[in-house]
Amino acid sequence: MMSLSEKSVRIVNILNKTYPDAPATYLNYQSPFQMLIATILSARATDAGVNKVTPVLFKKYPTPDKMAEADPDEIGKVIRPLGAYNKKAGYIIGTSRLLVDRFKGNVPRTMEELTSFPGVSRKTANVILSVVFGLSEGVVVDTHVMRVTLRLGLSDHDQNPQKIEKDLMQLLPRNIWNDYARLIGAHGRQTCKSRNPKCNACTLNMLCPSAKLD
Ligand code: SF4
Repeated sequence: MMSLSEKSVRIVNILNKTYPDAPATYLNYQSPFQMLIATILSARATDAGVNKVTPVLFKKYPTPDKMAEADPDEIGKVIRPLGAYNKKAGYIIGTSRLLVDRFKGNVPRTMEELTSFPGVSRKTANVILSVVFGLSEGVVVDTHVMRVTLRLGLSDHDQNPQKIEKDLMQLLPRNIWNDYARLIGAHGRQTCKSRNPKCNACTLNMLCPSAKLD
């Protein structure tokens, strides 16, 4: 019998071969600052939607200094398609102000500092640490990672990203935390979709308790 820990490592090995080009992120960015802002905006929005508004946003406000002084209504107009735009405008202006006031405009590299920014959850901070700095402070549990992890039986904490993350941190060796989130993200987007997962074509179907095979 394979332990859950062995199974999770096996899953990462299989997915590494299935998605050799899985990107670390689907958000477009050109600096740590831009990635931080894009990740804040991506809460409850699609990455494709964020990528549509950020070119305009970053052209108008390319640096933390510029964004810190922006008019919230002007920002709201640009990010309106993402939903919750008033709140998000407040978050990204507040984050830019804090960056300027406390960090000389540089994005910090610790979980504690990152989660002190408005609109930055543990998940957002994990994304920045892993994608921008290549650090592993935790496992990014977004909607794809949550859904696929539950289907694979690696956690039974339904709809609780914090507890799912804890389970994954215990199961997986730290050096593959980032790979797990990146590869499971690709798997969730391409195969283990929210509706109609493609179980017959799935390279994990022999390991998956939720597999529905014809
Ligand atoms: S077998 Fe189906 S449910 Fe399981 S991981 Fe693959 S696609 Fe998802």
